[in-house]
Amino acid sequence: MRLILRNTLIGRKEEFRPIDDNNVRMYACGPTVYGRAHLGNARAAVVFDVLYRILKSLYPNVTYVRNITDVDDKIYNAAFERGISLEQLTEENIKFFHEDLGKLNVLPVDIEPKATHNIEDMLASIKKLVDRGNAYIADEHVYFDVSSIENYGALSRKNIDELQNGARIEVSQAKKNPMDFVLWKPVDEKFNFGWDSCFGKGRPGWHIECSVMAHKFLGEIFDIHGGGIDLLFPHHENELAQSRALTGQKNMANYWVHNGHLNIDNIKMSKSLGNCCFVNDILAKHDGETVRLALLLTQYSSPLNFSEDLLTQANNLLSKWYKALQHIEFAESECLDENVWAAMLDDMNTPKAISLLCEMVEKINKGEVKLAGIFMNTCRTLIGIMMKNPKDCFCSASTEKKDWILEQIDKRKQAKTIGDYSLADKIRLELLDDGIIIEDSKDGTTWKSKF
Ligand SMILES: [Zn+2]
Repeated sequence: MRLILRNTLIGRKEEFRPIDDNNVRMYACGPTVYGRAHLGNARAAVVFDVLYRILKSLYPNVTYVRNITDVDDKIYNAAFERGISLEQLTEENIKFFHEDLGKLNVLPVDIEPKATHNIEDMLASIKKLVDRGNAYIADEHVYFDVSSIENYGALSRKNIDELQNGARIEVSQAKKNPMDFVLWKPVDEKFNFGWDSCFGKGRPGWHIECSVMAHKFLGEIFDIHGGGIDLLFPHHENELAQSRALTGQKNMANYWVHNGHLNIDNIKMSKSLGNCCFVNDILAKHDGETVRLALLLTQYSSPLNFSEDLLTQANNLLSKWYKALQHIEFAESECLDENVWAAMLDDMNTPKAISLLCEMVEKINKGEVKLAGIFMNTCRTLIGIMMKNPKDCFCSASTEKKDWILEQIDKRKQAKTIGDYSLADKIRLELLDDGIIIEDSKDGTTWKSKF
């Protein structure tokens, strides 16, 4: 069984060969925790969770590191605006991030380092870069000198001359070259937060955080570096540049894997366009499994167009699948369906895997009940869906269950009557978690099962 992956480093698919068969090592860039996770964070987390599941099915040990960027100008500003400490803000958002990912059935990673817990290592690396002539101090900042290494721009296939003349690069008087980037910078005094160092009180730049944490936990060179395509330039290019200067190795990771852009109703999701979708807002209306499957209906490396239609499509599939399994008795299985497994090994071809799963369900509906156990195990192990017991889905809800639902609806009504809207909303969300959608109309509240 061979895993094929699209490797950005060479611009095509190739067979994955780990450095050490007994410990496959993967790093993925985690979120900057200044606010709630958006759908772009969710897509990356789900895509690399699927890759993690595949690797765990192939190899005895996998070490997956996903960092938390908990120091950043956006974090300083958000904490300052709310009048709370940086730590209060980041702890709150990390907790929300874990809750959101839990609902999406994303497995916990093996190591989740925080930037603020690794500042000493970052300072040691920055000193090394200055001593070796790869970085310089100017105007209280430390900058990485991109001209000090060969092939800067090769990972993202950028033409350096074009970049130098590009208007999108921030031009600073202090920089020798417009593409040089910050390794250490002072923090605005009003924030009263930073670390003392030989470069002055300040904080690390974003790019050095990832390089240092990746090497600290995975070694000088590791197998897979993942992230969204929007991070390819400059973030990953800069990570690679720093790492090559620090370790003397040609690469940082042998395989660079990127998930595609995210569009919302055919428009690229971006804060500046005001169409940023937050995961918790979507999870308030849709079940986590539905959102997860919607994110996997498109191949990971292609742009994904997220829409209500896509969620409906995912929900319809799950309904059909749960219904098919609801009334049949089947034995649990530890086997994976060979065809689905082959599709997943071919550069995580989830659309093909999902269409093969649809074919399996058709066969189950036609009486091939023995496929049901393999179907469930394949869905759960590789795709991370069908985690519920089909018998608990509500087409066949018991009288007790129906009574309990009506009781909850009544409690919610009472909560609304006394103005306790947070309790009312909590009850609605608990029911939704249980697969029950409630609908208010002028004639009262009704409920229906998602499945
Ligand atoms: Zn990173």
